[in-house]
Amino acid sequence: NKQVIFRDYVNGFPKESDFIITTATIPLKLPQGSNGVLLKTLYLSCDPFMRMLMDSQPSSFSYSPASLLFGYGVAKVFESAHSDFNKGDLVWGMLKWEEYSVVEDPEKFIKIHHTDVPLSYYTGILGMPGITAYFGFHDICSPKKGEYVFVSAASGAVGQLVGQLGKLMGCYVVGSARSREKIELLKNKFGFDDVFNYKEEPDLNAALKRCFPEGIDIYFENVGGKTLDAVLLNMRPHGRIAVCGMISQYNLDQSEGVHNLMLLVRQRIRMEGFRAPDYFHLNAKFLEAMLPYIREGKISYVEDTVHGLESGPTALIGLFSGRNIGKQVVAISTE
Ligand code: NDP
Repeated sequence: NKQVIFRDYVNGFPKESDFIITTATIPLKLPQGSNGVLLKTLYLSCDPFMRMLMDSQPSSFSYSPASLLFGYGVAKVFESAHSDFNKGDLVWGMLKWEEYSVVEDPEKFIKIHHTDVPLSYYTGILGMPGITAYFGFHDICSPKKGEYVFVSAASGAVGQLVGQLGKLMGCYVVGSARSREKIELLKNKFGFDDVFNYKEEPDLNAALKRCFPEGIDIYFENVGGKTLDAVLLNMRPHGRIAVCGMISQYNLDQSEGVHNLMLLVRQRIRMEGFRAPDYFHLNAKFLEAMLPYIREGKISYVEDTVHGLESGPTALIGLFSGRNIGKQVVAISTE
């Protein structure tokens, strides 16, 4: 049973040496007296929030040094002693980074019923990042047809979806990303109206003014820092900012300050944070909306897949240098 161990709390950017790959020998069956399930891991998801669990100022949800890494993933029930789960059932939820896991409280997982779409999608478009994009955009941003929408980290797991949901609503959508390859995707695959490469156009205020001569109604915030400051200068009255995350801040000892917050007052802007698990109870409604979009080809989804647990740490830390093109997935087993 291959496993990934979190070595110790991290300062600055995480490195490969912060993780240890080990192999533990375990019997492939449930322990005596278990009422849970034995899961076989199929796909693991690399998510930016995992960096926060590594922080040297730990919270109750942090990883413990020298213990198994965990995160969202897709698994198959290999053996069950639980009345609600049968061998072969598919689930997604919080999994340990190992090939097989004993779980005593499988009720916490969401069952997967639709297998006509790639199973790995339940780490992304049909899983936690999809729920984030869907409810963050519709519920927090209250978009209206014709509005001007800006998305940062636009080619990523969440951003690519927000942009396409914006287009389906009839909005004008602009995205930013750091490489030419990502910019191409935004324009040619996801149908963004305009794009800019923030590495090639470091004057973010000028780039936003060029893309939004009339200003921004909705900003879907994934990045924070200088990007947020530049966006604030370009927001229209009564604009909305959904604060999904601020990845540019996660590896800093101290967050950069935001200087233009007074514009929230002058422009009567609503800025609101939210968390995906707040919406997990609406999963059925979410799937009802999202599955037809996928099946009818109205939304496409790009994944960046590496294979094997041993590739996981490199993929995970790559999120913070923009190495991933689309949703970063670690494929462990296909069945
Ligand atoms: P992505 O798939 O977008 O991967 C991360 C991307 O962030 C990178 O590819 C890179 O894109 C960009 N990035 C990394 N470092 C920086 C930096 N210093 N400055 C600017 N951009 C950077 O990740 P997700 O879509 O999964 O997550 C996007 C955001 O949403 C994150 O902030 C995350 O924390 C948040 N989130 C919040 C949730 C919630 O419940 N509120 C749930 C899920 C995600 P590029 O190459 O273009 O720079």
